[in-house]
Parts: sequence; structure tokens; C-alpha cells
Amino acid sequence: MVVNDIFAALNVDLSAWKGDALTARSPRDGATLATLAVDSAAGAERKIDAAHAAFLKWRTVPAPLRGELVRVFGNVLRENKDALGRLVTLEAGKIRSEGLGEVQEMIDICDFAVGLSRQLYGLTIASERPGHRMMETWHPLGVCGVISAFNFPVAVWAWNAALAFVCGDPVVWKPSEKTPLTAIACQALFEQALRRFDEAHPGVAPAGLSQLIIGGRDVGEALTRSHKVPLVSATGSVRMGIEVAQTLSKRLARSILELGGNNGMIVAPSADLDLVVRAVTFASVGTAGQRCTTLRRLIVHRSVVDQLLPRLEKAFASVKVGDPLEGDTLVGPLIDRGSFDAMQTALAEARKDGGQVTGGERVDVGHDGAYYVRPAIVRMPAQTAVVERETFAPILYVLVYDEFEQALAVHNAVPQGLSSAIFTNDMREAEQFMSAAGSDCGIVNVNIGTSGAEIGGAFGGEKETGGGRESGSDSWKNYMRRATNTINYSRELPLAQGVKFDV
Ligand code: NAD
Repeated sequence: MVVNDIFAALNVDLSAWKGDALTARSPRDGATLATLAVDSAAGAERKIDAAHAAFLKWRTVPAPLRGELVRVFGNVLRENKDALGRLVTLEAGKIRSEGLGEVQEMIDICDFAVGLSRQLYGLTIASERPGHRMMETWHPLGVCGVISAFNFPVAVWAWNAALAFVCGDPVVWKPSEKTPLTAIACQALFEQALRRFDEAHPGVAPAGLSQLIIGGRDVGEALTRSHKVPLVSATGSVRMGIEVAQTLSKRLARSILELGGNNGMIVAPSADLDLVVRAVTFASVGTAGQRCTTLRRLIVHRSVVDQLLPRLEKAFASVKVGDPLEGDTLVGPLIDRGSFDAMQTALAEARKDGGQVTGGERVDVGHDGAYYVRPAIVRMPAQTAVVERETFAPILYVLVYDEFEQALAVHNAVPQGLSSAIFTNDMREAEQFMSAAGSDCGIVNVNIGTSGAEIGGAFGGEKETGGGRESGSDSWKNYMRRATNTINYSRELPLAQGVKFDV
């Protein structure tokens, strides 16, 4: 199925986006999928203005009715799951099951957001003054900017957009320049939902509610600079996050930063090694090592390392690397040549540091412009600089420990803090890992790998990962502003803290 067929199946007209400024390629075979026009900075500003105009209307629509729009959008996604999932596979190189899984994640967050639209609760607070009542109310914040990375080309936008829409905020999305087609498809599917919603509720949802800006860093910067965008949710590299945060801080705007991870797992002596082999393999080679939550560091107790390592090496050597559209493929391509080069550079550095490398070589699938690799396992003598860096490719560094405290120290001694895991059947170790003195990450798992989070929890990480939280739990509060209200229903005017001020 080629791109035109997929767009026809989605009932989406690509022609309005065509141009010659940006080439969308498939990492599957390096082929050109489409050539597109890009937005100028001025064009991006016009779209931000349109979103701001939509905000002035959307903020007064009752939240449950806003939720109804998201419910309709979830249904449109259900109807188009197969075709959109296929497009994710073509453009981002994810295997079929993961492409479909990403669309399922969009549907799940829509369902979550629909429920949330009736639960945007504030507190009531006991007042110290007689005849007074205190409460807090949550109001829409304004235009929400979303900057997303190539590796979750549709789900990250949906995590933000579904919540933003029910919270009363329009969204302006700047997707990765490596995955513009999936973004165009999502925008068009949302517009289909808008039309369907409009039939039942004419004139309620403003047309400018969702805006898409296509282009590179410069149009992303238009978003971070605009005073009409009080919140930017940015997913990508630490370098990008620092640039975005600096621009936003100059105008004291809010950010949700979802940046790089360097996720570790401790394998304790009591671990169930059958589970470990499965969990480690999925977490480190899934999505060809291109998830922010990919397992990159395995910290194994000395007593089990010689049992575990050969099993992992066997699993890594046997997973099928190849065309992501084929049903039995488990490892698809890297996104591009730059990723392949970065992987080879990291492996060379690891070797120099005394690492023993298994795998990591290019796998020939008959396309010069596509970069497939055999996932690598590297037994390291120590956590050297290359291990402390996130290399966005399937490399698993293996380190050995003797004492639990030492494992914990090694685990936490990297600049990133996204996801973490321990495999143990020792309750004390598990609890310690989850305690205040345990893993310093935003995601802390026991007997589960580091990747594959559910939407119900708040997602994000600490340290260089940026501190942002999105998706479930109370992440919605990021998309709203809180007002504290004090109401006096007495005939007096007492002041707080007993202050006297008689006039
Ligand atoms: P990237 O940083 O190269 O690009 C991400 C996005 O930021 C793109 O849309 C890009 O155009 C935009 N951008 C870059 N510089 C910008 C600037 N100065 N101002 C505004 N926008 C700018 O990242 P990538 O290679 O697409 O993705 C891989 C990275 O993303 C990895 O580090 C991965 O860990 C991270 N990631 C993190 C999460 C998370 O939730 N923590 C999720 C997915 C990916």
C-alpha cells in the first residue's frame, strides 16, 4: 500500500500540503513518500493567531461538551486505526504491531480525556474567617504549543491534544520534520471529527481549534517565542529542550519538557530470569532502540550475569530484523543514516573503553538508503562517558554489581532520569528501589521493563529528561490555570491573620 492509497483510505486530501521544501522519506527503504511545502515563521504566526481566536470561544464551552468532541475524535481514530497505523510504519519505520499500538494509545487518551472532562475538580478549603468560603477553580489556559519527535509521531500529540481540548485549550502542533505525513493525517482526521461534531452541535467548536505547522526548528521557534502561547509541551532531545526552555523562560511561559532518557534496569540475584530475558529484549530492541524509554543500561548481579548474558545474546541474535510491514519482524529500521552513524560511533567508543561488543552491525535488506542493524549488547568494565550518554539506537550496555547499594548508585549516576526497573523477588530491594532513596526517575517499575507505559499514569522524568509530566493522573493541571476564590457571605469584613485596619 503506497502513501496515496493510505491517504485515500483515510479520506484525506494531501494535495493542499504538497510543495518542494521538505521531503518525507520512509526509513523502510529510503524512498521518497512525498514532497511538501513548509510554513514560514509568518505563516506559523497566522496559525497561532487563528488558534488564539478559537481559544476566546472554546474556553466558554462547558467542559463535558468539549469532551464530546474528543469522544467523536476517538471514534474517528477507531475507524481509521489500521490505515493510520500503517502510515506510522511507513514513515517512522515502526513494526506493524507498534504502529497500531501508537494509534491505540491515541484512542486510550481520548477515552481518558472524555472522562476527565467531567472531573476537572477544584478543592474547597476551610477559611479561617467566619462567614467565608474558599475554593479553587480551574480555567482554560490558552493556546498549547506541541513540539514532537519522530519516534512517537502521533501518540505524543494526542497525549497533549486530547487533554488540552477538554481543558479548553486550542493546540498548535509542530511535528518532527522527519514525520510530517502522519501529522497531516492526524490533523485531517481531527477536522473530520470537528465536522461530525458540528452536525450535532452547530457553531460550538471553532474552526481554528487545531493547527498544524510543518517545518524545522525555525517554525518551532515561532511557537516558543509567541506571547499568545502560554504553554509549550516539547518532546525531543535534551539539546532541543534546553533551547526551548531558554526561550520560554525569557517570557516566563510554561513548559512541559519530555526529553532524552538513559534508562537502567537492576537484575538482582532473586530475579526470575525467564521474565528478565523477555522484558530486556522488548525494552532494548523494540522500536529499534528508538524509544525515550528504551532500556540502555543493564546492571546485573555478579552471581547471575554469566547465566543471563548468553541467553540475552541468543535472543538479540535471533530477533528478526527487517521490513517493518512484515508480520514476523521485531526490529525495523533506524530512522536515518545519522542514527546509524551515531550508533557506530558509540560502539567504537565503547570498544576503546574496554567494552566487549556483540552485534551492532548493519543488516543488508537490499535498500542502500535504509539503515537496519543487529541490536548490540556491550559488556562494559565500568559506566564510562559513552554509557552516560543517550545513543538513540539499540545498544544495551551491561554492567556488573556486587552490593545492592552499589547497583543503585550506578543506576542513578547518569544525567537523565526517565524510566527505570528492577527485577527482584526480594521485597526489601523492590521497596528500596521505589523509595525516596531509590531510583531517581519519573517511572520506577518492579518486574516490568522500562518501556511501554500505559496512559493512565503521569508520564515523564527528572534531571535532564526535563521534569515534565503528561498523559494520565493529574497531568491535566498543566493545561489549566488555577484561581483561588474567597467568598464573604457575612456582614463583617474580617482580615486574615487577625490584622486590624479600621477606617
Ligand atoms: P529532536 O530534538 O531532534 O527534535 C524534536 C523536535 O524538536 C522536532 O520537531 C524539531 O524540529 C524540534 N526542534 C528542534 N530544535 C528546536 C528549537 N530550538 N526550537 C523549537 N523546536 C525545535 O529529537 P528527535 O531526534 O526527533 O527525537 C529523539 C529524542 O526525543 C530522543 O532524545 C528521545 O529520548 C526524545 N524523546 C523523549 C520522549 C519523552 O517523553 N521523554 C519521547 C520521545 C522522544
